[in-house]
Amino acid sequence: MRQQHFVATAIGLSLLAQGMAFPALGQTSGAVAATPARLPVTTPKAAYGFGIGDNYHLANYSQMASYWRTLESQSDRMRVVSMGKTTEGRDQLMAIVSSPDNLANLDRYQEIARQLSQVEGLTDAQARELAAEGKAVVWIDGGLHSTEQVSTQQLTQTLYEMVSGQDPETLKILDDCIILFVHANPDGNELVADWYMRNQKPEDREYESLPRLYNWYVGHDNNRDFFMSNMKETVNINRVLYREWFPQIVYNHHQSGPAGTVVFIPPHRNPYNYNLNPLVLTGLDSVGARMLDRLIAEGKPGGVRREYAPYTNWAGTTLRSNALFHNSIGVITEIIGAPRAAARASERSPPASPRSRAASGARPAP
Ligand SMILES: [Zn+2]
Repeated sequence: MRQQHFVATAIGLSLLAQGMAFPALGQTSGAVAATPARLPVTTPKAAYGFGIGDNYHLANYSQMASYWRTLESQSDRMRVVSMGKTTEGRDQLMAIVSSPDNLANLDRYQEIARQLSQVEGLTDAQARELAAEGKAVVWIDGGLHSTEQVSTQQLTQTLYEMVSGQDPETLKILDDCIILFVHANPDGNELVADWYMRNQKPEDREYESLPRLYNWYVGHDNNRDFFMSNMKETVNINRVLYREWFPQIVYNHHQSGPAGTVVFIPPHRNPYNYNLNPLVLTGLDSVGARMLDRLIAEGKPGGVRREYAPYTNWAGTTLRSNALFHNSIGVITEIIGAPRAAARASERSPPASPRSRAASGARPAP
């Protein structure tokens, strides 16, 4: 059940990032158009034979890709495109999710996002008109670090909830946003999930003994490649981000939460990066604050920020920090979790230290 909780939290954070796109564009809420989903759509459990977040079960990339194609055939809220080939020759898929009306005008919204990002030749008045007409483009990836399986598995569950949800919040997100769901490392997901699931006895499943790097040549350092684009996956991602879609929010999931916590969410610690436009960083702080606010409101403690983790906005090498240098709001979260019932002691409860027990600005709800 712990794993389900962490996956649910990761999914909740993804949904929040989408909701936060409205203030990022300065838009106010409008009427929610009634756009009921074309139902039924296949659930992850029906597709995989197990639910996302179930103990001792991981879906590999082939299962995910097949399921996304099934959803695409069933839903009018979603299109699946290939961003290009991976190192091992798989199609790296991106699911474009929005309301059916928005999907019918996708080219126009993509052009608006490009113009607002590039700004050349635009007057202030023209930019405001485009912002009013356009939709917030929100990138959400998963699986960049293949052994961080909460980040990988949440991607499909979040996608499923967006194509099947009928509640007002989901419908509003679909009306106001174009969400780009991207698997950041298909080859690594295939390797890790297959290695994990090879044992028939669930309790024996693990991926600590993985026999080779999960991204060719670079392994875990695939997130240091975004300033030089050596890997095919990085080339695909950078092209879609900065030449094709220009998202206002780039949300990059990870799973290395500080010990004794549940999830790290921006704002980041000092030193402050004065090379970036301050509006980008105050925008990032706003998105992060709203995410943590929502978790606390839902009775989910354990979120931390600022000096509780070593992350800053200085390294322009990673997927999310590179986005800041393109004036996108690059969000990282680091959650804890594992695909097993008995989480590590550090995951079950905060260590008994005064620092962990005391509420602070960096940890409002211990
Ligand atoms: Zn990571």
